[in-house]
Amino acid sequence: MTKLGELQLETVMDSVIDGIFMTNLQGDILSFNISATQIFGYRKEEVLGKNITFLIPRSEQAKYFKYLHNVTDEKIAQLYRKPCRTGIELLALKKDASEFPLELSISVLPADEVVLCTVRDISERKQADLSIKSYVEHIETIMDTVLDGLITIDMKGVIHGFNTAAENIFGYRARDVIGRNVKMLMPEPYQSEHDSYLNNYHTTGDKKIIGVGREITGRRSSGHLFPLELGVNEMTVQGKTMFVGTVRDISERKAAEIAIDTYIRKLQISNSELDQFAYIASHDLKEPLRGLANNALFLEEDHAGSLGSEGLRRISRIRFLCTRMEKLVDSLLYYSRLGRQDLAIEEVDLNALIDNVAELTLPEETTQSVELLIPSPLPRVTCDKPRVSELFRNLISNAVKYNKCPRKQIEIGVKASMNPHTNVLENRVFYVKDNGIGIDACFFEDVFRIFKRLNEEDDAVRGTGVGLTFVKKIVERHSGHIWVESELGHGSCFNFTLKLGE
Ligand code: ADP
Repeated sequence: MTKLGELQLETVMDSVIDGIFMTNLQGDILSFNISATQIFGYRKEEVLGKNITFLIPRSEQAKYFKYLHNVTDEKIAQLYRKPCRTGIELLALKKDASEFPLELSISVLPADEVVLCTVRDISERKQADLSIKSYVEHIETIMDTVLDGLITIDMKGVIHGFNTAAENIFGYRARDVIGRNVKMLMPEPYQSEHDSYLNNYHTTGDKKIIGVGREITGRRSSGHLFPLELGVNEMTVQGKTMFVGTVRDISERKAAEIAIDTYIRKLQISNSELDQFAYIASHDLKEPLRGLANNALFLEEDHAGSLGSEGLRRISRIRFLCTRMEKLVDSLLYYSRLGRQDLAIEEVDLNALIDNVAELTLPEETTQSVELLIPSPLPRVTCDKPRVSELFRNLISNAVKYNKCPRKQIEIGVKASMNPHTNVLENRVFYVKDNGIGIDACFFEDVFRIFKRLNEEDDAVRGTGVGLTFVKKIVERHSGHIWVESELGHGSCFNFTLKLGE
């Protein structure tokens, strides 16, 4: 080549953005363009005449020469008159001895036995690839650590991603399902529905289940069907619409729900059978009881003379016990009715209701010695008015009955309090508090039992032991709880919730 030709070639080489240099077949550098000097950090005069191996770390040199050998192979050389399109990536050395990734393609000019190398520093691209790789690995790690199954599908339903949780749920390995249609994870009719859903989405863009969780049936690799909760979200990956399904195996939850339902149904049946039993038993008991009372009366009327005073006292005792028994049977009947009858629900002003109850419950002569206090107005409640009146009637009359103070005090109010049945702080707990004889803590549960009386020996306050049982039933029918706080000799406080309207 003439001197002018060499100069022209050098000018052309220097104007190229890629690094270009030429070597002879032994690898001695013949020319080196400006971009190459920038890539490697050497000045031209520092590299000219040196062997290319000083630009390539020892570990990469075999790779380079193998490539060179392939390209110089005669047949290939025929083809590669132009710069080789199929380059390689290898590590190269800068002047400061740092290694960097390089893309290199060579072509051989057989006539001149010259090797033309085109090089490009691909550090940035590699860095970007690395960050994408680590990002993808990061996402994959997250996907594999979440407890829910995550399944990624494309618009045709083909599975692209299947995390570890999904593997555990369905019993397939990711490699067994990736590339297959997601329908394989569901039985009919979901399979067909899924096709028509995707078709519909294709044609109308209508996203029926995106963002909406729903319960469907899944199919495990074993063929077993199981209930699962599915949430679907849409995303765009490299311009393509993809869907991510979040799946959760809810077999255990469903089984628990079914068990609870069955339990509740059994309880309801046994409750209504008990109510039924109480009703029938008390009805049947009443007849012989009346007969007993009548016969005692006849004896008293017809044979008073021959019975003597002791006989008459006993007859009168029989009649008293018959009346008492009748009251108990009536209470039992009423109790069973309380459990069976539908409630008549309405919005009730508790202040008016209590005024009314107090007027009827606190006889005029006792009002002098009974003080009823309502510290602040009571709220309106959704309840069965006659039943709740009865509830307050029982609590108020007990507060008076079981009270030996000359000045009996009853306080009715509403407060926030911990519900010991649920261990939850309730905002609206009603209470009826008195300064009466109080209740021993060991009877806090018993007082609500039917026919349970704590002061049986005291004839003056003889009750039937059913009042609090009714109260409890009424509270329960209003979805509430009742509990008592008291200290013997220091009054009692009955607390309850009414939760129908809440
Ligand atoms: P009764 O009043 O007819 O006996 P209850 O079911 O209303 O039946 O009450 C059950 C028992 O609880 C009563 O016998 C009484 O011993 C006790 N009791 C109820 N309320 C109070 C109260 N406010 N203070 C003290 N003891 C009470």
